[in-house]
Amino acid sequence: MSFTPTEDQKMLREAIERLVQSECTPSKVRQWDRDGVFPEDVYAKMAEAGFVSMVVPAEYGGIGSPMSDCIILFEEVARPAVDFATRIGLQGWGAMILADFAEEELKREILPRVAKGELKLSFSLTEPQSGSDAAALTTSARRDGDDWVLRGQKVFSSGAHAPDNMIVVAARTAKGKTRHEGISLFLVPNDLPGLTIRRLDVIGRRVLGLTEIFFDDVRIPGHYLIGEEGKGWGYVGRHLERERITLAANYLGSARSALDEALAYAKERQQFGRRIGEFQVIAHMLADMATEIEAARWMTAMAAWRYDSGLPCRKEASMAKLFVSEMLQRVTAAGMQILGGHAYTTDHDMQRHWRDGRNATVGGGTSQIQRQLIARELGL
Ligand SMILES: Cc1cc2nc3c(=O)[nH]c(=O)nc-3n(C[C@H](O)[C@H](O)[C@H](O)COP(=O)(O)OP(=O)(O)OC[C@H]3O[C@@H](n4cnc5c(N)ncnc54)[C@H](O)[C@@H]3O)c2cc1C
Repeated sequence: MSFTPTEDQKMLREAIERLVQSECTPSKVRQWDRDGVFPEDVYAKMAEAGFVSMVVPAEYGGIGSPMSDCIILFEEVARPAVDFATRIGLQGWGAMILADFAEEELKREILPRVAKGELKLSFSLTEPQSGSDAAALTTSARRDGDDWVLRGQKVFSSGAHAPDNMIVVAARTAKGKTRHEGISLFLVPNDLPGLTIRRLDVIGRRVLGLTEIFFDDVRIPGHYLIGEEGKGWGYVGRHLERERITLAANYLGSARSALDEALAYAKERQQFGRRIGEFQVIAHMLADMATEIEAARWMTAMAAWRYDSGLPCRKEASMAKLFVSEMLQRVTAAGMQILGGHAYTTDHDMQRHWRDGRNATVGGGTSQIQRQLIARELGL
């Protein structure tokens, strides 16, 4: 593993940074957060610049970049608001599942359009009664002629309401011997009759938005079943390492933004006749924030490197997700303290990083579940 980024990686980071800084200015992001609006025109520009292609396999119209390049993408795109990285992450997650398991015809129909940004993917596994215990889901799908008919309810689906979006839905198609059997994955266009999407009123992650979805006998064509009937649980598990490394990179980007803001503030704000950054206690808080971010960077890079090298990385991916998400909460909490009362106003972005970061230890498998997975890898 090299500690030096390649010339291509440096250029990639600079190109992403340039686009993100020009399109996602602080005042625009504040407005999108206030209004709960995802700027689809900016997403289109990101897609045009090839950001979405990076997470779509090359055989299906993408670039299929290695994870070590994708973490640069996610880190930089998350800097203005983590939801930009979440949106692209959802495309990667869905694209990988389709590429690995869907019928060839479906892959050719969907993936090139995802790579171009014409079509989006979101993912709905969680239900009101099944969160961490996701395999307890009860949304059902039954065959009716050539079609499938879905019934049930999903919750906490990120960005499912976006225009031109297809939802990857996990539904029960049979009662298996274990709860993990009999689950299938479907591709569901989000504008079908019988499908209702309601935006949840949430404290953070307001740009992409969180939704609940009601399926009232939603009819989908038979070929929107992904892969084999009843194998969905295995498909979901296939890319969990990838998702966890992606999330770690997202949170690394957010934490860097929080540190930058806290540092700038500490260098500027004067109390008792000197800059607050000159108080040792504040300086040490900033030193701790920077140190944790550096540790997070290398944990994420190490997990990505193992992933790209084909080495086992289940433990490292969970560790990176666990550490970086908890680090983000420590860093944003410290940032809020450093900005004092001003942090409490929406004139500063710290409160948004803090609010958005609150979900980091919950979504994508809670910290408790990550610890459980790591303990299992330790043989417990
Ligand atoms: C902003 C946001 C975005 C999300 N996006 C999506 C999405 O796009 N698609 C999707 O399908 N889902 C999404 N989720 C759902 C997310 O994955 C779940 O919230 C998460 O898995 C936890 O489920 P839960 O909220 O039902 O909590 P629960 O599972 O009810 O957990 C409650 C508490 O109990 C703890 N707990 C549960 N089981 C155990 C155990 N075995 N041992 C120890 N502690 C345990 C948990 O760690 C937690 O602290 C999102 C959630 C949020 C908040």
